[in-house]
Amino acid sequence: MSATVLLQSLWSVTAPPGPECSTLSATQRAQVAVIGAGYTGLSAALHLAEARRDVVVLEAAEIGERASGVNGGQVIPGVKVDPDNLEALLGPYVGGRLVATAALGPDLVFELIARHGIECDATRAGWIQPATSEFALTLLARRAEQWWRRGAPLDLLSRREVLQLTGSPRYCGGLLDRRGGTVQPLAYVRGLAHALLRAGGRIYTRSPALRLARLGGAWSIETPEGGVSAPQVIIATDAYTGVLNENLRRTMVPVPSFQVATAPIPPPLRSTILPDGQAASDTWHLLRYFRLDAGGRLVLGTRGTFAAAPTVHSVQYHYRAVHEIYPQLKDIAFEYHWGGLVAMTRDHLPHLHELAPGLLAGLGYNGRGIAMATMMGRLLARRALGVSVVELGFPVTPVQPMPFHGLSGIGARAAIQYLRCVDGLARLRRRVSTQVPFRA
Ligand SMILES: Cc1cc2nc3c(=O)[nH]c(=O)nc-3n(C[C@H](O)[C@H](O)[C@H](O)COP(=O)(O)OP(=O)(O)OC[C@H]3O[C@@H](n4cnc5c(N)ncnc54)[C@H](O)[C@@H]3O)c2cc1C
Repeated sequence: MSATVLLQSLWSVTAPPGPECSTLSATQRAQVAVIGAGYTGLSAALHLAEARRDVVVLEAAEIGERASGVNGGQVIPGVKVDPDNLEALLGPYVGGRLVATAALGPDLVFELIARHGIECDATRAGWIQPATSEFALTLLARRAEQWWRRGAPLDLLSRREVLQLTGSPRYCGGLLDRRGGTVQPLAYVRGLAHALLRAGGRIYTRSPALRLARLGGAWSIETPEGGVSAPQVIIATDAYTGVLNENLRRTMVPVPSFQVATAPIPPPLRSTILPDGQAASDTWHLLRYFRLDAGGRLVLGTRGTFAAAPTVHSVQYHYRAVHEIYPQLKDIAFEYHWGGLVAMTRDHLPHLHELAPGLLAGLGYNGRGIAMATMMGRLLARRALGVSVVELGFPVTPVQPMPFHGLSGIGARAAIQYLRCVDGLARLRRRVSTQVPFRA
């Protein structure tokens, strides 16, 4: 392999085009200005436009150029924290409503796709968590029991069932959550943008919000060549939150996640891999998430490649992960390599903040943003429309910047190296214990 790797996302090659948008070159007025054109910002803007609000979206790059256009496309219900723990943490009422709202994220995604005719290879075959150890399986059983009490359609899988559904011999059981599914992530975010324009919204790309100030009764946003004045502003910049609001930026740590995609797998072999079309995220500390795309390529990602451009070492780490999970793919070529930033929060929860009167923000999806960011967009829109905090079904929390945030990148890097070692040792132990003893 050469020392440099061509970085290109599979999704950018297979998605239908997004709308043609121009750069903002004048000063405009709107009822609501949204900063960021990912799932959060576009879902917020779409719900506002559907409620007949005059809305403008400002995007620093192109639509879906950041996390919403480069992710794994796995539509995952709920948040990282299990329902009972969430209710213990936030109390039964607030915690219970957060659990219920987050659980409805996939319904909202697939409903928007159907209602707006978004072509994004959407399938709702479920999401699998394959277990990498017997201990992980007991945790999955506890998770299943918590969701069953809340009426969710989950199945615990035996070793044989997880082998049948994933086609990988590496797992000892698992959990199938039938609420989940997959999308072509860039096609989905571009579809939201088309829907917003049809609903009367405006989007300006290559128009970063540089400064935000309260002038009289309205917020004034400055971009390099223009500006927007609006009584209400929604910040939807997630892991890419910059200096626009320093305290907000310090509520999360952006952690890189990197993916590879194989060449299309030939049909007889392809039918051995995830034959029913589910997506999977396993239970290693540094989890591996994988799925097939519509063209029959395996797409696999992991957390924690910190170099600005991936090194040969990190790319080979991903190739090894593919071969370990699917030994039958050892001769398949790899065609695409790409990555992006995931916003991790201290409590592993997404947050909706009211930073000042008329200034809202929603961020911090911890790697589960397709469903949750779409839902957050709707929550932000509802709050901007005047829905009370009590009616919202999601807590509005104060901004709590992390102490020593400047060091958090180093901390995250050290934690990832540590977890990689823990996983590596566990894999080694498993290999040793499953080897047939040598007999002379
Ligand atoms: C590699 C990877 C894999 C992932 N896999 C999955 C998965 O399989 N399933 C899942 O549910 N989630 C996954 N995620 C997480 C998910 O992609 C995110 O949580 C989600 O896309 C967040 O959406 P968003 O709209 O809040 O942020 P983004 O999509 O990041 O959008 C924020 C936007 O704000 C813009 N912006 C920033 N600053 C400014 C400014 N000053 N002015 C104007 N615009 C600005 C940025 O350019 C960007 O377009 C993954 C993330 C990554 C990176």
